[in-house]
Amino acid sequence: MSKTISAPADTPVAEISAVVSRLRTTFRSHTTYPVEWRKQQLRKLWWGIHDHEKDIVAALAQDLRKPEHEALQSDGIWLKNAIIDALSDIDKWTKEEKLEVDLLGMAASPVVRKEPLGVVLIIGAYNYPFQLTFAPMIGAIAAGNAVVMKPSEISSASAAVVTSIITSSLDPDAFAVVNGGIPETTKLLEQKWDKICYTGNGAVGRIIATAAAKNLTPTILELGGLNPCIITKNADAKLAARRICWGKALNGGQVCLAPDYVIVPASKENEFVAAVADNWRKFYPQGMQSSPDISRIVNERHFHRIKKMLDETSGEIKVGGNSDLKEKYIDLTLVKVKDENDSLMKDEIFGPLLPYLVIDDLDEGIEFINRVSDTPLALYPFTNNKKEADYILERTRSGGATVNDCIWHAASYKLPFGGVGESGMGNYRDKFGFNQFSHHRTTCRQAGGWFEKVLDARYPPYLPSKLAQY
Ligand code: NAD
Repeated sequence: MSKTISAPADTPVAEISAVVSRLRTTFRSHTTYPVEWRKQQLRKLWWGIHDHEKDIVAALAQDLRKPEHEALQSDGIWLKNAIIDALSDIDKWTKEEKLEVDLLGMAASPVVRKEPLGVVLIIGAYNYPFQLTFAPMIGAIAAGNAVVMKPSEISSASAAVVTSIITSSLDPDAFAVVNGGIPETTKLLEQKWDKICYTGNGAVGRIIATAAAKNLTPTILELGGLNPCIITKNADAKLAARRICWGKALNGGQVCLAPDYVIVPASKENEFVAAVADNWRKFYPQGMQSSPDISRIVNERHFHRIKKMLDETSGEIKVGGNSDLKEKYIDLTLVKVKDENDSLMKDEIFGPLLPYLVIDDLDEGIEFINRVSDTPLALYPFTNNKKEADYILERTRSGGATVNDCIWHAASYKLPFGGVGESGMGNYRDKFGFNQFSHHRTTCRQAGGWFEKVLDARYPPYLPSKLAQY
């Protein structure tokens, strides 16, 4: 058994302002501006992640008992590939963008300059403690910012490894980690930032947005919500079940994009339920709890939160239902519920429970989604009829959507990832992340004295003949 990774020491609250000032001084000194410097930091970050790959796997195993396969797929390898792509595209991203304008404006050669914002704060969540911290950081570095990172204190082993990667790889005058919980984050939020990127629940999202508003600081808020799956009469219910089973099982359901509930028509119910049972049996041939491929709930507080939802359901358990506090383990569990008043339908589950409801009429299903979820992070229509898929997409809202699968629209590090309404604001990754952490500064360089003849029309006295020239 590998050795236990200790939680990082909390950053003394009294030192936090000095950390931010140090980074601001660096930013003002122009250190972070040259694209070559940014590339160098990105390369160092790549090596930092590469050299810590075993620690990443060990930390995720310790915090969440996350399987190595998932740890590398969604954190280690995923991040390294995202950095390689950023390195190959950064010259393109940072280039001034020429703008097309009317004849009068053309002489001033208008461009958009991509400039760094300054000193930015990234606050991560516990479920993907590497991806959710480093993926926004890649955009922030590429755009030339200094960054303070605040990892989630809940996945403490991962926070220790995030700290080690940053402090051992990157320029300490431009990149810093602040560890801790509410007191430390509260102190961080009292500082002046040029952008805050927060991932976590909506209640804290509101605290972040309120603090940011005091300094007119723009925010990226990556929040959660109840993600619906809707299986229509035109769907392959067996295939839908397999894909939903995978989406629910990842990280023990502790995924912001995990399906939260499924709407099934009566004619497909039996097929769907049988396929769910069959898939989870096949995914975990040695039994769910004995399988090395199911994560554990991150801590006892979250175990009790999820268990309470299950204990209070008035639905019928179709698959699973067992739990074990000692191991912080809960079965992947399928429950037939009647309506949105069920304990499993009130809040985002963020765990391995999957309620489903039978709703036959498509419009009724859409109305249900809009009433219960409104603006979830993700929506998953399952249908083999393209027009029907479009019909659903046009009548619902969500941060992102995948038709006939779960999570796939957010699997690639190249695609913009973000929420809408209750599930957040702003999206990032790849060039979208670069843009989020850049100021697009429209800049004109006016033509010389020879151009005054053309500009003559703009000067008073304002004669009708001058207006006619525009
Ligand atoms: P968490 O408990 O790890 O908290 C997130 C961050 O907020 C941590 O860094 C924590 O220190 C900080 N925090 C907590 N309380 C605070 C307070 N009072 N003031 C200031 N900061 C505070 O994670 P969580 O919030 O439980 O995460 C789960 C939620 O995050 C779910 O709703 C999930 O859907 C959402 N999530 C969203 C995304 C996304 O990209 N949209 C990704 C992952 C998780």
